[in-house]
Amino acid sequence: MAQFRLNALTEVLNRKPNEIAREENLVSDYYGMLVFNQVKMKKYLSKEAFKAVMDAIENGTTINRKMADQVAQGMKTWAIENGATHYTHWFHPLTDGTAEKHDAFIVHGAEGSVIESFSGNLLAQQEPDASSFPSGGIRQTFEARGYTAWDPTSPAFISETTLTIPTIFISYTGEALDYKTPLLRAINAVDKAATAVCQYFDKNVTSVRTNLGWEQEYFLIDEALFMARPDLVLTGRTLMGHASSKDQQLDDHYFSSIPTRANRFMQDVENEAYKLGIPVKTRHNEVAPNQFEFAPIYEEANLANDHNQLMMDIMQKIARRHHFRVLFHEKPFKGINGSGKHNNWSLTTNTDVNLYSPGKNPKSNLQFLTFVINTLKAVYDGQDLLRASILTASNTHRLGANEAPPSILSVFLGTEVSNMLDLMEEAVVDRKMTPDEKTALKLNIGRIPEIILDSTDRNRTSPFAFTGNRFEFRAVGSSANNASALIVLNALVANQLLKFQAAVDALIEKNVKKDEAIFQVLKDLIVQSKPIRFNGDGYSEEWVKESARRGLTNIKTVPESLEAYQRPGFKEMFEKLEIFSEKELRGRVEVEYEKFVRKIQIESRVLADIAINHIVPTAIAYQTLLLENVKYMKDVFSPEEFKKLAGARIELIRNIGSHVSAIKAKREEMIEERRKANVIENMVSKAKAYDKSVKPYLEEIRDHIDKLELIVDDEKWPLPKYRELLFTR
Ligand code: ADP
Ligand code: MG
Repeated sequence: MAQFRLNALTEVLNRKPNEIAREENLVSDYYGMLVFNQVKMKKYLSKEAFKAVMDAIENGTTINRKMADQVAQGMKTWAIENGATHYTHWFHPLTDGTAEKHDAFIVHGAEGSVIESFSGNLLAQQEPDASSFPSGGIRQTFEARGYTAWDPTSPAFISETTLTIPTIFISYTGEALDYKTPLLRAINAVDKAATAVCQYFDKNVTSVRTNLGWEQEYFLIDEALFMARPDLVLTGRTLMGHASSKDQQLDDHYFSSIPTRANRFMQDVENEAYKLGIPVKTRHNEVAPNQFEFAPIYEEANLANDHNQLMMDIMQKIARRHHFRVLFHEKPFKGINGSGKHNNWSLTTNTDVNLYSPGKNPKSNLQFLTFVINTLKAVYDGQDLLRASILTASNTHRLGANEAPPSILSVFLGTEVSNMLDLMEEAVVDRKMTPDEKTALKLNIGRIPEIILDSTDRNRTSPFAFTGNRFEFRAVGSSANNASALIVLNALVANQLLKFQAAVDALIEKNVKKDEAIFQVLKDLIVQSKPIRFNGDGYSEEWVKESARRGLTNIKTVPESLEAYQRPGFKEMFEKLEIFSEKELRGRVEVEYEKFVRKIQIESRVLADIAINHIVPTAIAYQTLLLENVKYMKDVFSPEEFKKLAGARIELIRNIGSHVSAIKAKREEMIEERRKANVIENMVSKAKAYDKSVKPYLEEIRDHIDKLELIVDDEKWPLPKYRELLFTR
């Protein structure tokens, strides 16, 4: 084995699991200690300032400057008492990850001294020099000023020595440049539309909250091996590597006992997460070797998403303490499972009713069915948009790879709910229903609860599954910001609920009774959205054919998929719901195309470098060794013997030669395609060129490298192999 690979492996094997600081206290004692939560606000704020923040959280009212000043003072005092020296506005730009710029609390005091200071102005608004964040051309550099504004609905927290304030990020001209702004708008849109629909069933409902429970999958790789793989370091995935003879065939990793080092890492992460008020609940091994998952208890979606971003950050930082690197890439290794981030999504009312939980009586069940059926229709109408919200350069490797949701959108409802919908479809008639018919239907509807609680059928192959009290959107990528998916999902559901309400009201206008109007509109929706319902195996070949017969779309490339955002119907929907203006949408899509291009461009460059610097020289060195060997054989053996003995070796020499030539030739071609694509001005055409003409070379070149890996002397191979990356712990 090559010496430096051996060194790296020895380093890994010599590692002792880190002792981690064991918390003496119960989690409940230190949970949220670094968060300026309600308990702290009560202590550090005046009654009126506390009320102002609570009003902002609960009713969306604005906090005036006087109150903001008071909140800032309270926050500062608390933060300094807890070791903070700096503060930062923390936001979610349209990159992977979050952004922050720390400022010290100090200002000049008297006689050359400094004092700690923080004001309502600084809390409420900041102007980072943000000209380098992606904006899709919204913010030309001459109007580079964007500003961040405090989001009081997500509490401030202390990260190391910095008071961190969650904020939105908008351009000087008011356009959203981040994920949080449109997420808040989309949450608001659902709130309004769902509340109005709830009014049919319960007049006490005045607001509806969106919930998110994320499940974060990831890989843990030892840092010594990670550092020896330039492709992992620079792109987050392996651009080459032959499959390990054993990987996940035996299903022996999923839910198995967690390796001690990984476990210590997880405990350490959890401790930090608890201090920051992130309710992490579950940890386990995933399907692939060295693949794991964290999941918290669900929370309000905006907060949950902040927590997910924060958690990803904590994981990366803590990993270093344990000499690991976390891979959030959707497909770090070819041939084994990739990682996703299931989004468990539901809506609850201010009266504490989960709108996706079957109720206790026909009325609440009709409300439940109303929300399920409208969601179904929303997903059916919005399939292309939902796909666009989750398909990225990295997630394309995972989707449809027979382990992850296919790129065809469908909804799994389970047999019980499906049967219920069938029953409603048959029972509801277009004329006035007889009292008996109505009673029978209501009786049936009233029976749902017991059935569902009993039903445990769960379909792992569905991209969008009803799981008893929520929907689970499983196609979201592990590295993604959930907001991208949630903005679209909330927009589609809000839009559909508005249409539903309009249709029901129109019937009521015509003197149809409310219940009957609801039944009739629901029946129409059931019929219209039927093609999206699928309880079978989403990975199967038959489903690909069947879904095509049903007219469902199956789009696999990012550039094609992104077109959905600009489709007239969707564009109007975003504008009407005040989630994206036309300009914001254009900018956002432009950023997505650009990200796609950049990612493929980087991968292509890295592969070209490694191929020519690492692989080709290694292969040639080994080939030379074989050539010398053959030459000596010729000296020693008679021509007949030589012919017999050297045949296989000569074949090997030819084989290596042909792979090396192919790598060199294809590398040149790839670079040429990149050159051609780079001069294309239009971002959409450029993305398409990268997708069609550059991307395929990544696979083709890799193929030759992976074949060489099998042939070339292990002693010489320059990169840690899959079996080492995945099985050395
Ligand atoms: P799995 O789907 O793998 O069985 P769990 O049952 O533990 O996992 O749930 C996954 C996530 O779903 C958790 O974050 C959990 O809090 C969340 N969840 C549970 N109920 C709801 C709900 N009503 N709305 C949103 N998320 C929920
Ligand atoms: Mg799940």
